[in-house]
Amino acid sequence: MDKQERTCHVVVIPYPVQGHINPMIQFSKRLAAKGLQVTLVIFSSQTLLTDHPSLGSVKVVAISDSYDTGSSSTGDYLKQFQATVTQKLPRLVVELGISSGHPISCLVYDSFMAWVLEIARQLGLSAASFFTQSCAVNSVYYQIHEGQLKIPLEKFPVSVPGLPALDADELPSFVHDMESEYSPILTLVVNQFLNFKEADWIFVNTFNSLEEEVVNWLETQRSIKPIGPMIPSVYLDRQLEDDREYGLSLFKPAFDSCMEWLDSREPGSVVYVSFGSMAALGEEQMAEIAWGLRRSGCYFLWVVRESEEKKLPCDFAEDSSEKGLVVNWSPQLQVLAHKSVGCFMTHCGWNSILEALSLGVPMVAMPQWTDQPTNAKLIADVWRVGVRLQANEKGIITKEELEKCTRDVMEGERGDEMRRNSEKWKKLAMAAVGEGGSSDENIMEFAAKLASKFE
Ligand code: UDP
Repeated sequence: MDKQERTCHVVVIPYPVQGHINPMIQFSKRLAAKGLQVTLVIFSSQTLLTDHPSLGSVKVVAISDSYDTGSSSTGDYLKQFQATVTQKLPRLVVELGISSGHPISCLVYDSFMAWVLEIARQLGLSAASFFTQSCAVNSVYYQIHEGQLKIPLEKFPVSVPGLPALDADELPSFVHDMESEYSPILTLVVNQFLNFKEADWIFVNTFNSLEEEVVNWLETQRSIKPIGPMIPSVYLDRQLEDDREYGLSLFKPAFDSCMEWLDSREPGSVVYVSFGSMAALGEEQMAEIAWGLRRSGCYFLWVVRESEEKKLPCDFAEDSSEKGLVVNWSPQLQVLAHKSVGCFMTHCGWNSILEALSLGVPMVAMPQWTDQPTNAKLIADVWRVGVRLQANEKGIITKEELEKCTRDVMEGERGDEMRRNSEKWKKLAMAAVGEGGSSDENIMEFAAKLASKFE
């Protein structure tokens, strides 16, 4: 058998939102770099912005999930999504094997789609579950799944092995959502653990030293493989020339305007503000952010998605043009890697945090929902790379609070300490994914084990 014929073919299937697509693209690229053939399959009703049917050596297949997202509830969407994937995936996997000449040997599926394990087994394939969120948050969901944490939770703070005590506003928001429209998402995140012990591999987008205690604790339940941070390796080397982007986006970044604007600012003078791909803020809150940024006196680059734009105070973007730039979507990695950026005001999405940590940028944490409150706790109290904004009695973060915390990170002594800590995490992140690092070794081991089945 020559080398080509031995090529081992893996299909990677992210849940179709930006924060899950991005790390799973990177994982696909890492696997390809280790000699595996990789096809990334995305079931989505949204259009993916890409000029390429492939990302380097990773082939991409985008399939409509035949769903009109505007028309009904989260629960209905999740049911329809599962039905579509369950119906279409088995045939697609067989066809991909035939057309490439290399039968598929493993399905790497998003842990939000735990039911894909069944499909893998029916096809006689290995199965790997990929957790895109932090080990901390996943441990909370695991404890709920195992009945160790009973919801509704009655006493706070809550104690979870490997984590600091967590108050109500430091837990993932879905644990408070039993009766709300988000209860299907609570079921989804807890069900990530339905067949946790049966999957052949569990990958988590984190790195050992970042979440050491909680990784060690989850390890007592079953073997897990931290493989992060899943950001393009070029950023870790600071070689920004090639392969700069994640590659598949649901939004179009304002690349030139962001870069030109940043190029003309002093080093460390800009606050970069983004709430990710999904969080929706109230109009009053948007106004407080706007006036708080202006009061801080700092330059700011603020991502306001098109769907959020109408909530900005009238003429704010035009009136602030001397100090700020507002765009609908940014090339976030390039922005965070830019020397003008002094801090990141973030909603604390897990990818955004890993990106900031890996690029050594301190943070102002403004969590909104889902895993973000727990991530904010880690930023402020465990890694000490940022501050968390505190809401007033009406649940609003005022312009005064925003101004004070931004100045603390940008100017004060505490800011210097956070910058030093950020630099430390950056080095550890690079070490984990660099050659021979703990995350790199875990990917190597997976690739080698799959390949050995062909020998
Ligand atoms: N992102 C981007 N441009 C933006 C805002 C976000 O490229 O203007 C990327 C960001 O780099 C990250 C992802 O979108 O990789 C958002 O994922 P995250 O987990 O931070 O938040 P989510 O969108 O899932 O809430």
